[in-house]
Amino acid sequence: MKPSTVISVIIPAHNESQGIEVAVKQIAEILTECVDNAWEIIVVDDGSSDDTYQKVCTLSQVDARIKGIALSRNFGKENALLAGLDYATGAAVITLDADLQYPPSFIPEMLDKWRAGAKIVHAVKRSRAKDSAWQKFTAYCINHLISGLGGINVKNSSDFKLLDREIVDIFTHQLPEKQRFFRGLTSWLGLHLF
Ligand code: UDP
Ligand code: MG
Repeated sequence: MKPSTVISVIIPAHNESQGIEVAVKQIAEILTECVDNAWEIIVVDDGSSDDTYQKVCTLSQVDARIKGIALSRNFGKENALLAGLDYATGAAVITLDADLQYPPSFIPEMLDKWRAGAKIVHAVKRSRAKDSAWQKFTAYCINHLISGLGGINVKNSSDFKLLDREIVDIFTHQLPEKQRFFRGLTSWLGLHLF
């Protein structure tokens, strides 16, 4: 089989009806600028009780590069991400939140790092200025606890990542874990340059 030249973006979405169209359109525009037609956006609807999935279907009817997967119930973000990784066909796969908390404007830079040879590109938060004091405190505790226990670094880490196809295949075929922590496992795999 010929290797894919497509770039995939996976967006897990739970009750994101309000912002999903804007998010998908913004990401589509950025992708078109950097890879022309060779992209797909996969929104994994994680058992939303609003009309997130219907909105994705409408977008998909207009542009077939936008694809929707509907999970049968709310399985949680980690499982939604995994379903997206399983479905994605891209040579590189980018994972991103639906609420645009992580700026998609970084996608071109992530693709440059990948083209330069990176297998995994982690987007790291330089500042948590927009987080509340409680969010900062809980993120600090959780990330330091996991980093301490697991011997991996997830401090200031996020689920905004680019994975090369090689890594996606390891994720979908070679890791037996059923309960996953995406940002921890990508760090644990190694192979990242920055
Ligand atoms: N999400 C999901 N399933 C869930 C909860 C969240 O797919 O059960 C999605 C959500 O729609 C968003 C991303 O995961 O795209 C991050 O969720 P959220 O913004 O609530 O998390 P936080 O910003 O606190 O990390
Ligand atoms: Mg968020």
